[in-house]
Amino acid sequence: MAIIANYIIDETGEVTLVLHAKLTSLPTPDNASPELVSSTANPDQSLKDIEARIQVSAKHLRLASPVFDRQLTGSFNEAQNLQRTGKVDITVEGWDLEALLILLRIIHGRNHRVPHFVPLSLCARIAVLVDYYACQEAMQVHLRLWKSHLETQIPTGYNATETLEWIWVSYFFDMSRVFDQVTLLAIRHGDEHMESTEFPVKASIMEAINTHREKSIDNVLNLIARWRDGLRQGLFGCTFECRCDDLGALEQSLFTANLYNPPTTPFTGWSFDSLFTHVKTFLKPSSRCNLLSYLNHDKCDAIPKIVQEVETLSSEMQGLDLTTFK
Ligand SMILES: [Zn+2]
Repeated sequence: MAIIANYIIDETGEVTLVLHAKLTSLPTPDNASPELVSSTANPDQSLKDIEARIQVSAKHLRLASPVFDRQLTGSFNEAQNLQRTGKVDITVEGWDLEALLILLRIIHGRNHRVPHFVPLSLCARIAVLVDYYACQEAMQVHLRLWKSHLETQIPTGYNATETLEWIWVSYFFDMSRVFDQVTLLAIRHGDEHMESTEFPVKASIMEAINTHREKSIDNVLNLIARWRDGLRQGLFGCTFECRCDDLGALEQSLFTANLYNPPTTPFTGWSFDSLFTHVKTFLKPSSRCNLLSYLNHDKCDAIPKIVQEVETLSSEMQGLDLTTFK
């Protein structure tokens, strides 16, 4: 049986939003069923079935959100129940409870329980609700504040979960510079096909990230293959000895890096950055070029030239342009 947690945002409110969720902990309710009292006294990390019941006002919901306005007027069951009995339960599923409470408190003017700043992850979840309920105007002041706070926290390192949150919030808040930076992080460091199930990031954005990521990895593998094939076929290297040294060193390095058999699309477990890191550790043999002749040495010294070519690819990498997805 679900633990019932009641939240009263407007004690005269006619609408109860009902959210079922599985949570390890939940925002402090205004009152709750006894199971919750005992479970909060002995906190554990197991998931509990929660039925959150949030009492709110139809007028505030309708003013803030055209989605609620449609639901509470016209021919919807909810609207008819409200007219007939003067109250109504509306089931809302799939939302984050903490984010939903913050959104509802703001649109009811209950600002004393709204945090001044919210962390990235919570901000991303609130933005999902603002987007769905189209209540940007009612949330405007807080959104502006949170955006300015986010702008001071732009990431430089990669973390798959956080990067996806950043991609979503930078799109939502129209932060083009941040969007460029965080999509570049995803393209450069992502080590698997990326999908956004939690956030409504446009499919075209995820597709562009995945395409650019795979292309960047493909470019590195192709240039290594070009050197390897050239040496194997006797086309690269100025002399037999020069070629043997370079090919031997390259084969050993590829074996050590687990790249002897190159990975294939979608390159799970590999990123441009992990490849680059391996390439930089490839051991360079001392040159056995025949420097006394007029032979061309453009195709000699495979390892340093491979490193140089990957460095060039690295310096040319770019994030996505937000304006093309708006
Ligand atoms: Zn040579």
